[in-house]
Amino acid sequence: MTLRYEIIAVTPFRQNCTLLWDDETGDAVLIDVGGDVPFVLAETAKRGLKPAAVWLTHGHLDHAGGVAELLSQYDVPVSGPHQDDAFLLEQLPQITAQYGFPVSPSFEPSRWLQEGDTLKVGNYAFEVMHIPGHTPGHVVFYCKDAELLIAGDVLFYETIGRTDFPRGNHADLIRNITSKLLVLPEHTMVLAGHGRTTTIGHEKRNNPFLQG
Ligand SMILES: [Zn+2]
Ligand SMILES: [Zn+2]
Repeated sequence: MTLRYEIIAVTPFRQNCTLLWDDETGDAVLIDVGGDVPFVLAETAKRGLKPAAVWLTHGHLDHAGGVAELLSQYDVPVSGPHQDDAFLLEQLPQITAQYGFPVSPSFEPSRWLQEGDTLKVGNYAFEVMHIPGHTPGHVVFYCKDAELLIAGDVLFYETIGRTDFPRGNHADLIRNITSKLLVLPEHTMVLAGHGRTTTIGHEKRNNPFLQG
């Protein structure tokens, strides 16, 4: 297996920015650049890599707040989230200021994503799944060959994403996790947006929100 990843915790929210790369081709992407951009770029350069793209799971500030700064240094395409999160990216200047983050300008991604889209890093294809509930436009990235799921703030170790934010929906979240994620192979590794990694099988058996 030559798909590799490194989790880089950023912002006061300890968001898991993920550096993902194909060791064979040297192609690299950054997922959820929430902030601490110089640190993220240093971690990327340390491995001899250059980001060729940014992928976003959703529009919350701790996942998207560093994108504009990154784009000022690297002109790379930004894929995601789903267009239903456009209101969050539009409000980034106010929201970052409100939370005491470095103020981010609003931006529009190069490409909004939809259920069934495919993204590639090197030789690895990731399937896009739309999982609304935490935010209406939240997407996750699934690589069947690498048995890897980038879950953003949908699914965490023994818990699930908050749904008390604007346009959150608990029933939507549970329904989409159950129908789209719990059906994946049990040993699929789950990289969550915060905290430790887990697997689909572990969550199926132990996540108190997903029993029955
Ligand atoms: Zn979030
Ligand atoms: Zn988050």
